[in-house]
Amino acid sequence: MNTQRVFFLVWIINVCSSQPTGNTGFFWQVTDFHYDANYSTKGNPWKMCHDSSEGSYSNSIYGNYQCDSPWRLILSATAAMKRLHPDPDFILWTGDSVPHVPDSTLDLQKNAQNIGNISLLLRSVFPNTSIYPVLGNHDEYPADAYPPAPGSDYYTTILHQAHFDKLLTNDTAAQFQTGGYYSTLSRPGLRVMGLNTNLLYSQNKLTGKSADPAQQFQWMTATLSDARKNNEKVILLSHVPPGLFEKYSGLMWFYNEFNTQYVRILQNFSDVITSQIYGHEHTDSYRILKDPKGAPIGVLFLAPAVTPWNSSLAGVGANNPSIRLYTYNRMDGTVLNYQQYYLNLASLIKGTANWTLEYDAKKDYNVGDLSPKSMLNLALSFNSDNSVMFSKYLTYNSVSQAVNPACDLDCKMVHICSITELERMNFDLCKTVNPTKTTKMPHPSPPTHHRRPVSKTYIYIIVGLAAVVFILFIVVGIICIRRRRHFIPYRFSRFSNSLGRGPIN
Ligand SMILES: [Zn+2]
Repeated sequence: MNTQRVFFLVWIINVCSSQPTGNTGFFWQVTDFHYDANYSTKGNPWKMCHDSSEGSYSNSIYGNYQCDSPWRLILSATAAMKRLHPDPDFILWTGDSVPHVPDSTLDLQKNAQNIGNISLLLRSVFPNTSIYPVLGNHDEYPADAYPPAPGSDYYTTILHQAHFDKLLTNDTAAQFQTGGYYSTLSRPGLRVMGLNTNLLYSQNKLTGKSADPAQQFQWMTATLSDARKNNEKVILLSHVPPGLFEKYSGLMWFYNEFNTQYVRILQNFSDVITSQIYGHEHTDSYRILKDPKGAPIGVLFLAPAVTPWNSSLAGVGANNPSIRLYTYNRMDGTVLNYQQYYLNLASLIKGTANWTLEYDAKKDYNVGDLSPKSMLNLALSFNSDNSVMFSKYLTYNSVSQAVNPACDLDCKMVHICSITELERMNFDLCKTVNPTKTTKMPHPSPPTHHRRPVSKTYIYIIVGLAAVVFILFIVVGIICIRRRRHFIPYRFSRFSNSLGRGPIN
């Protein structure tokens, strides 16, 4: 082979290896717009930036940390999606488009119109892209009140008046009308499953006593069983995630029994569900799904919100507006990486919205992949004193928006245990094994089956001690039997004189 041919061959190999494979695709996740049509640049930030006659304020046209999203912010977020990656395989829109205002100021028509504005915007910006929407707890009217019976008129209203019929196919729209859930093939062998976990949400006072709200558990199990039979993999999306809020100790999102049922389904179908995508928290975090023996078998990705709104939950704080681009394996749906983009509201330059990369998950967390094992190890690494990774995670958790007060050791354990444990009992155990009074922390999440086996030395010591106690017991017993014939009850010997009783003989 001559030199030219060798160079040509090396060039071909280099070109081929530098190209992304055809199996790698991209999708956007956008969540929690909370569009507030009453936002005003002159509105009082302590009253949701609504126009008022009390004084004059000057809020940014792109939003204020105290308030929900103005339309300009929503336009700018979707324009940034288009500019940064114009041709994704699909978009996952994980709900909550209605603002955080009292129910008394809203009604079903207003909510549907609010959501519909965003449906139409996404469709116009991405006319040829599949858009998979799910509903948020605020999207119902009144908020959170999703009914337990299947087939509510609400879903029909959302389809037609909130224009979900422009996003869903006829087939998925028909499924959606049962309970706000559906599934469809994104490509052969890869199914997208949109759930309505607002039905399981503990703030929903209508469904708490229902065995299976809107028959979603039954549908989910049947759909996942069919997927398994057909050798399909599933990307699952929903609004409210299972587990506990990492920023509010002890707050569990679902009713406890629903959480258990849901986690069992995730465990039973961990070979089928390859990705899970949620919103709702407004913060940036993730969860590890473990099997009953404690081994990591899944990752739940929780993306932060578009709205910067300062949470009404004490200490939770605000966040910068955000959008997330995932890289995934088109063949099996696994998430390979993601880039988190954001708009730093505190440093808008001359009022222009400059959406930039906040971080790249693989690169900035320094992990080889986003597999369950790697992501669990990342969370466990937060445990070490002065963990650089935990500092990064904490910054990203509020989308680089400063949160006060600073996160102390107890706060850190709530973060770690929320990530590593989806169920209340294991979360409590994870927290209680942490001696927060000391500076050195053990690894969290030590379910009993994960404890290190007791070393042989300890076993020898315990067996030795038991043998000594047994021998002593035998010796004392023999001495007692030998002395029995000479034994005089203590009380008689002591009180013989005072009781007027003489010796027995
Ligand atoms: Zn929300």
